[in-house]
Amino acid sequence: SVIPDYLTEVLADVESDVSGEPAGYIPELAAADPDRLGAVFATLDGKIYGAGDVDTEFTIQSISKPFTYALALADRGFGPVLAKVGVEPSGEAFNQISLERESGRPLNPMINAGAITAHSLVGSQELDPAGRAERVVDGLSAFAGRRLSIDDAVCASEMEHAHRNLAIAHMLRSYHILTEDPRGVVDGYIRQCSVLVTVRDLAMMAATLANRGVNPVSGDRVIGERVVRQVLSVMATCGMYDSAGDWATQVGIPAKSGVAGGLIGALPGQIGIATLSPRLDAHGNSVRGVSLFERFSSDMGLHVMEVP
Ligand code: GLN
Repeated sequence: SVIPDYLTEVLADVESDVSGEPAGYIPELAAADPDRLGAVFATLDGKIYGAGDVDTEFTIQSISKPFTYALALADRGFGPVLAKVGVEPSGEAFNQISLERESGRPLNPMINAGAITAHSLVGSQELDPAGRAERVVDGLSAFAGRRLSIDDAVCASEMEHAHRNLAIAHMLRSYHILTEDPRGVVDGYIRQCSVLVTVRDLAMMAATLANRGVNPVSGDRVIGERVVRQVLSVMATCGMYDSAGDWATQVGIPAKSGVAGGLIGALPGQIGIATLSPRLDAHGNSVRGVSLFERFSSDMGLHVMEVP
């Protein structure tokens, strides 16, 4: 196949761009090698093509958000989840303390306020925080098609500096969006963000969304089609935070970024794509990851608004 050559070529084209900075607010993340660079395509017939650092593990961070939203929708149903988390783009940063005025409902599940709430809605109501975190790791693993684990060092490092997320969770508790101890929920949410993945895993997870909820390699149905539609829609409108509009016009693929430098795109019926490059732009999105996706989209005509 010519795809690996193509990927190698595109990676070489963006390699010299060392602009941006790795996330600094989680000290353990700042310690990661900022030069890492990798990309993987996962097609819906189960083929995987990659170049660069495709098997290096890093933490999933915010890329976990669409998948836990999917689990919450599957476990609790649409009504109860939508009552607590909206689907409107915030146009604000990922960690903004932005809640709907009267209800206190987070605007969408891709910003931290909504993601912390979605985390609290995974599993049955009877689950304790530890059981819920387990259900989250199990669910993320099913999307990836292999057993994933948690990076305890990154998790502990983030927990020590979690004042912003704790503040958000306490706000949510005051509005009864959260109905339990906010600390336990934030602890579980940070565990969720600390799950270790490779670019290959992320491409498989994206391909599972692109493939109507069926993992293209294992053949397992991970999530229902109605949930997939909801999740991809929210990724398309809110996945890139306050650069969602730029992304929608330039790249046009439902996507989600993470503060460790990962980025996924899921093109319905076609392909799952993932990249890694830790230096971030002002929105908290990977600089070279965004460049790679712009190239992929224009070279292969992947924009969803373009007639193939
Ligand atoms: N764990 C990070 C946080 O909550 C995730 C943020 C991100 O990846 N954008 O701040």
